[in-house]
Amino acid sequence: MDVYFDNAATTPLYPEVIKTVTNSLSQYYGNPSSTHAWGRKARSAIETARKEIASLVNAAPQEIIFNSGGTEGINAIFYSALKDLRAERIITSKIEHHAVLHSLPKDNPQIQIDFVNLLNDGSIDLDSLESLLSTSKKKTLVSLMHVNNEIGNILDIDKVGALCLHYGALFHSDAVQSVGKLAIDVKLSQITFLTASAHKFHGPKGVGFMYLKKNSGLKSFILGGSQERGIRAGTEPVHNILGMSSALKLCHDHLDDNHQYISKLKNHFFEGLVDIFEKPQINGICRNSKNSLPNICNVTLPMDEGKAQLLSFKLDLNGIACSHGSACQSGAGTGSHVLKQINNKSKYYHPSLRFSFSKFNTIKEIDYVLEVLKQISRN
Ligand code: PLP
Repeated sequence: MDVYFDNAATTPLYPEVIKTVTNSLSQYYGNPSSTHAWGRKARSAIETARKEIASLVNAAPQEIIFNSGGTEGINAIFYSALKDLRAERIITSKIEHHAVLHSLPKDNPQIQIDFVNLLNDGSIDLDSLESLLSTSKKKTLVSLMHVNNEIGNILDIDKVGALCLHYGALFHSDAVQSVGKLAIDVKLSQITFLTASAHKFHGPKGVGFMYLKKNSGLKSFILGGSQERGIRAGTEPVHNILGMSSALKLCHDHLDDNHQYISKLKNHFFEGLVDIFEKPQINGICRNSKNSLPNICNVTLPMDEGKAQLLSFKLDLNGIACSHGSACQSGAGTGSHVLKQINNKSKYYHPSLRFSFSKFNTIKEIDYVLEVLKQISRN
């Protein structure tokens, strides 16, 4: 049996999205910037997609800018917030995605970088955020992810947005793991900038969007033509944009059903893990259904080092895809920067695995993976 439990890395496309993409490749091949009928047809399709996406996050269509995905969006926002908006300070956390951590201007002494404290379970300490915000009058960009891609913790973006508004800071949220899985209202959460990526919600790869609050003043990162209101140059990939819009619409049509279904999968998985391992270590707050995304389950399994080193190899041999981009299993790698922040270092040799689910997974698949884990732990 082949089981794909690596949906936080990327997701399979909805069949409907594949149809939308393939149809649009033949129907909308005109350049959306051309003024002739072919161009106008492509332009109109893009603008319809923009309206659709905007309505799903409660933004205005002109606040949605299409791009190539999460990494580009994050780089663009950091670049322009520092250069054009003259931010002098960034507040973020040490468990952000590398797209954020590697975009920090560490070599620029003029930009102050502060990291919020984390609670033991990897949650952001909002008191620490407030105290950082209150200690300086410098123009500040706060960048905190909505859902952590390794451990699934959900950040209370409403609270962060309210704090940022109160202290006059810009608020960027990397919502790559939450868009399409959680309801997001950019206005309610007082978000200034948000980044999203279609391949994490059953859409195509190489396309995403940024929400840039009206009049935020953010400028272009990629230079060239005047596409995307001059903020993101380059001919728009019409098929990808339409695929993204169709994927997001499908996710939102089934947001609650999917959430409930995937929560059931995760609970079943946990119960099985406890039966086999008695005390699997849960990384983050995976068992807290309110503050953790059901799609992500990060666990450290109690096994001796020898077995631990072979675990992901054996899972792969048995047709199971999950992610071990976490604990330093060989002793030679650098391990997960997220788990390093939240776990006791002595446990590093244990195998830490991220299993991530989608609506396309089944209880039968969970049972198969549990059976394989049982065999591995016994042999
Ligand atoms: N941010 C988070 C939280 C992610 O999980 C990812 C992808 O793994 C990214 C950013 C980067 O997104 P993309 O793959 O669209 O560049």
